[in-house]
Amino acid sequence: MVSRREAAQILDIPLEMATRHGLPSRLSSADLARIQENPPAWLVQSRANRTGKRPVWAELRCYVCDFHETTRPKKWWPDFTYVMCDFHEDGELPRPAGGMRRSEWEGVGSRFRGFVDAPAEDD
Ligand SMILES: [Zn+2]
Repeated sequence: MVSRREAAQILDIPLEMATRHGLPSRLSSADLARIQENPPAWLVQSRANRTGKRPVWAELRCYVCDFHETTRPKKWWPDFTYVMCDFHEDGELPRPAGGMRRSEWEGVGSRFRGFVDAPAEDD
């Protein structure tokens, strides 16, 4: 059995959409496989509309301790080079490569900080 939330992740749709279209709170793997093999019209439409857009779900995985969660990405999130729990020390990440500058985002997901290493601007 999978939960509705897990089913939404597997189908790559928002949880609200799964609820609106009557996915039960728990589905058997066979039910889920049936939906994937023979998707209802609303699911086909949703997939067609999403081509090339930001993914519905993002997986955040701590570089240090491997804690992870699947969550809805925020518009302002860049492509993080590293993600780690907010209680780890900066020194637990590898140092940025030569010529790279590290930027930090706080409040990512439930407990993460995100880091992006990008070429430093000449100034
Ligand atoms: Zn961690």
